[in-house]
Amino acid sequence: MAFKKVNKNGGFTLPLEMRRSLNINPGDSFEVTYNSHGNILLKRYAARCILCGGDSGVDYFKGKPVCASCAAELSKGKGAAE
Ligand SMILES: [Zn+2]
Repeated sequence: MAFKKVNKNGGFTLPLEMRRSLNINPGDSFEVTYNSHGNILLKRYAARCILCGGDSGVDYFKGKPVCASCAAELSKGKGAAE
């Protein structure tokens, strides 16, 4: 167990051993929340598809996240007004 103090910018450094074990690298994004006990929770951020909400194979199309499945449907013309 590691004890860390919050710095003047409101941050702290995750222990190197923890970063290595969890494969956390510079630039990785996390969703930060807290629960009813005041415990802070970090969850890896994964971009979600703006069409279906899925997070599998998400790539960006004109700056918007779209999953591979929806991208395939779009390229086939499915989903167009009938
Ligand atoms: Zn999708």
